[in-house]
Amino acid sequence: MTISPEALALATKVEAFVRDVVIPFEKDPRRDHHGAPLDELVYELREKARAAGVLTPHVKPDGSHRTQRETAAILIRSGLSPLGPLACNTNAPDEGNMYLINHVGSPELQARFLKPLVEGRARSAFLMTEPAEWGGAGADPSMMKTLCEPDGNHWVANGRKCFITGYEGASVGIVMARAAEGACMFLVDLPDPAIRIDHIPDTIDSSMPGGHATLTIDNLRIPADQMLGQAGEGFKYAQVRLSPARLSHCMRWLGCCIRAQEIATDYACRREAFGKPLIEHEGVGFMLAENKILIKQCELMIDWCAGVLDTGDLGTVESSMAKVSVSEALMKIADNCVQVMGGTGVTGNTIVETVFREIRAFRIYDGPTEVHKWSLAKKIKREWKAVQAS
Ligand SMILES: Cc1cc2nc3c(=O)[nH]c(=O)nc-3n(C[C@H](O)[C@H](O)[C@H](O)COP(=O)(O)OP(=O)(O)OC[C@H]3O[C@@H](n4cnc5c(N)ncnc54)[C@H](O)[C@@H]3O)c2cc1C
Repeated sequence: MTISPEALALATKVEAFVRDVVIPFEKDPRRDHHGAPLDELVYELREKARAAGVLTPHVKPDGSHRTQRETAAILIRSGLSPLGPLACNTNAPDEGNMYLINHVGSPELQARFLKPLVEGRARSAFLMTEPAEWGGAGADPSMMKTLCEPDGNHWVANGRKCFITGYEGASVGIVMARAAEGACMFLVDLPDPAIRIDHIPDTIDSSMPGGHATLTIDNLRIPADQMLGQAGEGFKYAQVRLSPARLSHCMRWLGCCIRAQEIATDYACRREAFGKPLIEHEGVGFMLAENKILIKQCELMIDWCAGVLDTGDLGTVESSMAKVSVSEALMKIADNCVQVMGGTGVTGNTIVETVFREIRAFRIYDGPTEVHKWSLAKKIKREWKAVQAS
């Protein structure tokens, strides 16, 4: 499936918007004490994106999502600045949440919870992970301990959650909890007094408004008609969200690394040491060359996986492979950029230092590298067994 000329033109427009309008805001002081952009800044940028015709560009005017290949062309460009996805409304977790509600939500739930997200007037949070010290769901979601049970025409949920990106300031929440039937998903209005923020930890990254909150859910009453899909199908819906959401992280962070490579290249071509530009020293030139190869590898992995998802396949294995390959490559690219730039690379003088910090957690969320490899190894063994049996 090819990318339509219209989608390509939109992607070009997104790139121009991020480079010309968003990047000058990277030094804007409107940040919280964790360094995350304040909503005041986010919504100001969204108004600019709206005016430029690049707000929520991955969703078509009729409300349907663009193909994954078209989404890739757009999201890579929106990622050229860590602020770009926030400005264009292509950021996590909203982008994945919009996808999920679009694919699983009833028309009524879509009108109430999806519309404000697509219009860029609200932020959302996805509440799945639970604290390790509580023995809850982490790399293994089947350990989910947050429980829910029916009570008249409501459900009541109790439990704990952690690392909930963007919870503070979000007005739409997708809560996962376990019922007798199995895992369930609910759409809830936020804030709700039954969900308490215990704490927002300091983290290595700082680009997500609201940070990554630790929460206690204490007798949260949810109207039964706010269940997303059917009771017991929660993990299935998580899979619907998972592959495209993993892939869109790959897209956005690839955009960030392309920008870091541009900055490191500029530094290495201008800065001299031992009588010649840094890039002419093999050690430096090779790092930039390795980055160029890795960037192409990431583009190809994203394109391959996007193509699989565009056939309607869930792409669980392909997105797993793409996620590992891209997140590991991006970490290397970001590290090389810091190294090429010497001391300047670890200062806040350029965005390279931010990109390096932001990329680190991507090797953990949406499935740590080791979990993806572990599950691929199980598949390899199954395939081997099938061959032996044939
Ligand atoms: C920045 C950030 C944002 C996040 N945002 C959200 C969010 O919005 N909503 C949400 O619900 N969650 C979110 N998460 C949580 C994220 O999905 C979890 O951190 C992830 O699933 C891992 O769970 P855990 O941290 O409990 O690690 P653990 O389950 O404690 O695992 C720790 C490590 O053990 C190793 N490991 C685990 N299982 C295996 C295995 N089978 N084989 C080999 N090694 C293994 C891996 O190296 C793993 O990193 C976020 C996390 C981060 C860091």
